[in-house]
Amino acid sequence: MITVNENFLKLQAGYLFPEIGRRLRAFIAANPDADIIKMGIGDVTQPLAPSVIEAMHKAVDEMATKDTFRGYDDGGVGYEFLREAIRQHDYKVRGVDIELDEIFVSDGAKPDTANMQEIFGTDNIVAVADPVYPVYIDTNVMAGRTGCAREGGGYEGVIYMPCMEENGFVPALPTEPVDMIYLCYPNNPTGAVATKEQLKIWVDYAKENKAVILYDSAYEAFIRDETIPHSIYEVEGAKEVAIEFRSFSKTAGFTGIRCAYSIVPKALKAYKTDGAAVDVNPLWARRHCTKFNGVSYVTQRAAEAVYSEQGRAQVQQTIDLYMNNAMTVSQSLSDLGYTVYGGSNSPYIWLKTPNGMTSWEFFDHLLEKANIVGTPGSGFGSAGEGYFRLTAFAQPENVKMAMKRFASI
Ligand SMILES: *Cc1c(COP(=O)(O)O)cnc(C)c1O
Repeated sequence: MITVNENFLKLQAGYLFPEIGRRLRAFIAANPDADIIKMGIGDVTQPLAPSVIEAMHKAVDEMATKDTFRGYDDGGVGYEFLREAIRQHDYKVRGVDIELDEIFVSDGAKPDTANMQEIFGTDNIVAVADPVYPVYIDTNVMAGRTGCAREGGGYEGVIYMPCMEENGFVPALPTEPVDMIYLCYPNNPTGAVATKEQLKIWVDYAKENKAVILYDSAYEAFIRDETIPHSIYEVEGAKEVAIEFRSFSKTAGFTGIRCAYSIVPKALKAYKTDGAAVDVNPLWARRHCTKFNGVSYVTQRAAEAVYSEQGRAQVQQTIDLYMNNAMTVSQSLSDLGYTVYGGSNSPYIWLKTPNGMTSWEFFDHLLEKANIVGTPGSGFGSAGEGYFRLTAFAQPENVKMAMKRFASI
């Protein structure tokens, strides 16, 4: 008899985006002429940089010729040309030394943040921020690292760390012992950033408690404040306790192209139940090369082009466009009397719902009165109740129009 992995049965049904879709369809059916502005989903809207397109065309041509054709990327960890560019432009320039064999190129930070847990024991205690990017939790549910779904949201056995106005949306250290700590800065959904001092508290905690930090830095390209670290490795000692996830998705509009990477430092240790220390880097190398066979050559050339002088300038232009949108939203909403967070080092604006409305009440209100779609904060966790996420991934003229409508409701 074939049995199922019953951990999957613990998963709560994907609620947030299906429910948004359902309410939107119902609204459109009743109001077929409404001109809807979408500021809900975290996907980019601008085309790829010309340098990236050019590199892809060239790589396609190479694949068409016997002499320059490429098959498997040896080992699937990424071509050296790309890992060298990552090492130089993402780390060396910020004073961080990363070795080539600490870089694992992949098809996404979603799969990487989802898969990394496999190399750690199933009895580890998982800590996540609340609100949170749901991938970190759901993949640990599938792996059996949690109990059942709780009434009112969340899972038994997971430590939820509330991120609120009072702590600047950076969680306090947990009071009970935890082993796997997921942090994401700049944050999705709150748009908050963590300072070096705040990250150091976490690094020190992880060292003292022999925990690992899984640091999702998918939005680092949106940081404008020069004092904010782009990498957790800018904190001294972080290589002993942290894995970092990066992606070309939001940085360079690769959500449909697919390229990302993880850094698994050689200094990082995890432990056997008898207390013996084990190197984590070779475990991930084994996992990655067993279950993954590399990112396409054309895509890796595209990613490399993001680091060329022209590529960097072009990608920056697109990020500036999104960040101008974010500024427009923050400024306009503040002027209208809303309390807004995020938006200055991140493409997300996290606003407090007015008049004590719940997140879903505000969703309906905004859709009906202004024909704008956003994301209810409560969909990311119970601490998100009373908040609402707007994204800067939109056309500037739509953002301006949306702000006019906000002013009239
Ligand atoms: C968009 C996003 C990613 C990127 O995922 P990819 O699989 O690389 O497209 C990672 N983490 C967070 C929190 C995100 O919002």
